[in-house]
Amino acid sequence: MTNDQIVQWQCDKCGGDVAGSEGYLSVDMPAVNLAERARQEREIHHGTPATGGLGPVPDTAEQPEKVQWRVHHSACDPDSGSMSYGIDVADIAALSRVLAWTLHFMDTKDWIRHTDWTSFVRARTGVDLRRERA
Ligand SMILES: [Zn+2]
Repeated sequence: MTNDQIVQWQCDKCGGDVAGSEGYLSVDMPAVNLAERARQEREIHHGTPATGGLGPVPDTAEQPEKVQWRVHHSACDPDSGSMSYGIDVADIAALSRVLAWTLHFMDTKDWIRHTDWTSFVRARTGVDLRRERA
């Protein structure tokens, strides 16, 4: 692809640019797994009236907090030992790569919906169809 746009990621801790192999994007997988379990339980409890479920609950009550994506230098990561899913900055340093990762998530990672990936990408890259159309 020509004219691919560089994406410059900034560290959530120190605010500095994260280049190449210096750091990564990450999301806390235990928190994602908890969100998935909660979703399954909601399905069981609210799914069919015949099972004695609580019935429909307003959508707002059904929307748990999304698990947040973070950007850190390896040295700045407050919990580098945690069970995170990570993407090296070097592997997502252009808009075409952000698109490739998004497609990968849509194809293979059902859990991505429990994270704030879409709003995270909008905020960090400035790419937002809604804003362009406004
Ligand atoms: Zn940093």
